[in-house]
Amino acid sequence: MTVKVAINGYGTIGKRVADAVAEQDDMEIVGVVKTRPSFEARMALEKGFRLYAATKENIDDFKKSKIEVSGTLDDLLENADIVVDATPGDTGEEYKKLYEKHGVRAIWQGGEDHELTGFSFNSEANYSDAPGRQFARVVSCNTTGLVRVLYALDSAYGVRKARVTLMRRAADPGDIKTGPINALIPDPIKLPSHHGPDVNSILSDIDITTMAVKTSTTLMHLHALNIELKKKCSEDDVIALFGKRPRIRLVSSKDRIRSTAEAMELAKDMGRPRGDMWENVVWKDSIAINKGELYFFQAIHQESDVVPENVDAIRALLEIEKDGMRSIKKTNKAIGLATS
Ligand code: NAD
Repeated sequence: MTVKVAINGYGTIGKRVADAVAEQDDMEIVGVVKTRPSFEARMALEKGFRLYAATKENIDDFKKSKIEVSGTLDDLLENADIVVDATPGDTGEEYKKLYEKHGVRAIWQGGEDHELTGFSFNSEANYSDAPGRQFARVVSCNTTGLVRVLYALDSAYGVRKARVTLMRRAADPGDIKTGPINALIPDPIKLPSHHGPDVNSILSDIDITTMAVKTSTTLMHLHALNIELKKKCSEDDVIALFGKRPRIRLVSSKDRIRSTAEAMELAKDMGRPRGDMWENVVWKDSIAINKGELYFFQAIHQESDVVPENVDAIRALLEIEKDGMRSIKKTNKAIGLATS
């Protein structure tokens, strides 16, 4: 039996989640929703997805552009077990009542507040807390990247405190809304940034403080982490720990991966769809224990790291797989994510 998945919002995240869901043998895409005609709408049809308009008013626009739509979001929800809401941040909330009306489960993204669902999700850290819930929020790309490493370190050695500086990409590569910038922007200027509290929406006991700077790049985010652990460990212990995690990729500057540009090139050379890097890219040779504290750099591909988490969240909410690690392995295998 396959579960029926609808995607509301077929942009950067939505189209990637749709492709990843279509690769799984226990779920299928019953339709994707767009507000207006676009190349992405045409591509959805070309891939074999049924296309729905967000509202009745939008249908005429699609007709004028000769793009076939099968109805509205309302119609689609009649035939769905779960909806992945990948509409722009702060838009998703307007749909909550509609999802409630149709009795479908729903997964929102990190652009929404934790309070919308009261449950923020990460595959490794809290998969087993999802069953029985109607709604979940997959945390943002940055928070997903932070939770993956902090959960691993906390489980093995206990995290006493984490201090993180995030250098954030200013826009996605296909984005023209925010344009190129020629500046480094402390964002937010008032410290600390929201990323620490967002990590606490999943790992509530970790003492974490974050600051973030917007940078003139579209490729990836870069995190500089400084972590105090409760138990002693060596650099090799941390390398071995990360090496065993399902969504951490260790790379080395000795292989000439010295930048986010080269990390993205690696993903393309691996034949990844759209050149995506679903896993955290941690520089093995940045891992250092200095004066008893752990330091390292990691890069996060903002367009894709939350994609496998959405697939696992579908299994967790619909209770089609009880064991989180089994879901992670199944998702990884189906999309072609192997870290070792
Ligand atoms: P996007 O702008 O690329 O795509 C959003 C899609 O929703 C577009 O197809 C747009 O046409 C559609 N849309 C707009 N208004 C709509 C409405 N009212 N109803 C239905 N569809 C509508 O956005 P995105 O980058 O994919 O972000 C989606 C969510 O994922 C946000 O919560 C964002 O914060 C989160 N997120 C984004 C990134 C990233 O780096 N892009 C990373 C992680 C999480």
